Amino acid sequence: MPVIKPTCVRDLKMRVNLADVVARVVTLRKAGGARLKGLCPFHNEKTPSFNVDPDKGFYKCFGCGKAGDAITFVRETEQLNFTEAIEALGKRFGIVIEYEAGSGGPTTAERSLRQELFDLHDAAAEHFFQAFKASDPTGTFMRTLWTEKRHFPMDLADEFKIGAADATGSDLGACLLRRKYSEEALRRCGLFFIYDQATISPATLRPRFRGRLMIPIRDHQGRVAAFTARQTELTPPDDPSHDAKYVNSPETPIFTKGNLLFNLDRARTAVGDGHPFVLVEGQLDALRCWSVGLKTAIAPQGTSITESQLVLLRRYCTQVECFFDSDTPGQNAALRFLPMALKAGIEVRFLTLSGQQKLDPDLLFLERGLAGYDDVRRDAEGAMAFACRAFLPDAATATAEQRARAAQSVVEILAVSESDAVRNQLIREAARFLWLEPRSVEIEYAALATRHHRQAAARSATQPAQALPLPHLTAESAQTPERHLLLLLLHFDSLGKPLSRALPLHAHWIDTQHTAGRLLNRFLGEFEQDAWPGRDHLDDLLEDAEERALVANLVFESPNIDDPPKVAQEGLRLLRARALEPRLRQIELALANPQADIDSDPISLLKERSELHRQLRTPLVLLAMR
Ligand code: ZN
Repeated sequence: MPVIKPTCVRDLKMRVNLADVVARVVTLRKAGGARLKGLCPFHNEKTPSFNVDPDKGFYKCFGCGKAGDAITFVRETEQLNFTEAIEALGKRFGIVIEYEAGSGGPTTAERSLRQELFDLHDAAAEHFFQAFKASDPTGTFMRTLWTEKRHFPMDLADEFKIGAADATGSDLGACLLRRKYSEEALRRCGLFFIYDQATISPATLRPRFRGRLMIPIRDHQGRVAAFTARQTELTPPDDPSHDAKYVNSPETPIFTKGNLLFNLDRARTAVGDGHPFVLVEGQLDALRCWSVGLKTAIAPQGTSITESQLVLLRRYCTQVECFFDSDTPGQNAALRFLPMALKAGIEVRFLTLSGQQKLDPDLLFLERGLAGYDDVRRDAEGAMAFACRAFLPDAATATAEQRARAAQSVVEILAVSESDAVRNQLIREAARFLWLEPRSVEIEYAALATRHHRQAAARSATQPAQALPLPHLTAESAQTPERHLLLLLLHFDSLGKPLSRALPLHAHWIDTQHTAGRLLNRFLGEFEQDAWPGRDHLDDLLEDAEERALVANLVFESPNIDDPPKVAQEGLRLLRARALEPRLRQIELALANPQADIDSDPISLLKERSELHRQLRTPLVLLAMR
């Protein structure tokens, strides 16, 4: 019987978010503070009394009294013993389980590639960290850079495992080879350039990062998934990206740039109760915030923020303060961020350094510490104040013409908000900041809405029905109903059986030209035959790299969905609309121009039309199963 190391159990409890564990079984809703609530899985109830506190890592049911942590939850709900529960959690969250020597345990070959890649990144982070601490010239240079040039404290480097890649970088390959990682993991980890034909050896593992300061990038569960590498004077001239100040890991099975936010793993436990996320431009800015005691800072990975990142953020807190450099690129980035935040339902405020200071956030915190944050926060601007100032810096002296033009730009931004109440509020605010009557801004908005409406109508007359954006989802995941249903299946497998029952007669609704459709079809087949292996055992069902990548992405996506059956129903409705509506439009067209249609007589067209209408009206009911 393998015995798991106690340190590993502690580590696992720290890294696993209890809410993520429970959410597989219980649909959770916010319940004040960081607490979540749902229907108890241990006793029958109609009103939720099952409370989860992800910060503390404990749950308690006020109905039946059951309480525990992530491990007890998995033991109880899945009837596993202690060791099995830990292995299940480790597998689910990609944490490598360590066993006491001589007690047995799974071999390397049994671990999945993703788990191996996380493990490899952990080893690489440790390797770079040791190089940073070493008393050789590289270590000394990097530490001096850290403390004297960047003015960061050493304990911050320890806390975040800041590392160093030396100018040759060659010893990383040897180190990882000694640890016997698989060839596939070494080829796909993104830390090396390897010629396709080359056999793996320390010589053919050409390091991507050389002579750079290494910042580990962790996912929201705290696992190292990639690195950002800062150029230094040690960066050799033959580095293919020599001139790039920052180089990121490429995308790998465990790293999708647009899905990760730097420091989210730590910041998410510090937000709430008047402490919003503080979005800064770069990783070093976020580290600076942390070092002065501002624990809620996060940063995108050297790119603009994406919708998936916002979806991820919103799981923890819906308030964000955007604090970018006060130069033009920084302010433009802030302006690009605004509509995305509004669309995602995030309440955003902008922290701006006033003209005289001309500092960037990094310098501000370095000089003033946390007091600097309090200062800029006092002058924080809401969404409309910021947007209006960007388009019309001086409303008081602007001409009517200038004000009208600014109003046009501002309504383009506020139009993305999906809440009527929020939008109306924004319109009133915009009017105030632009020195216009609210009515004028409303007219501007109405004109824009009409334009959008006409464009949409023109598109739908010439194209097959397009998937409408679905609630709670990123644009990316809303691309097709198939992808969307697949996402639901992977996160709420209790929906599998009902969906497989709802769809068999309509399998032709699924578009199997695309990967998502093919997988959806295949997965529903498994549910149909009660053969669904669970989302952590899908390897046998996946046929190629594209399918694996899609599943990995979807598993990573962590959708924020309150009522999965309802959202699944909406997906079905979209599939149906897409399958039936083009024919309906064809018939309408034929009926409107009798001479154009030569195939069918009007009577059978009318019959077909009413049959299509009937099908489109039939409610799609998904019987929830527990
Ligand atoms: Zn209970």
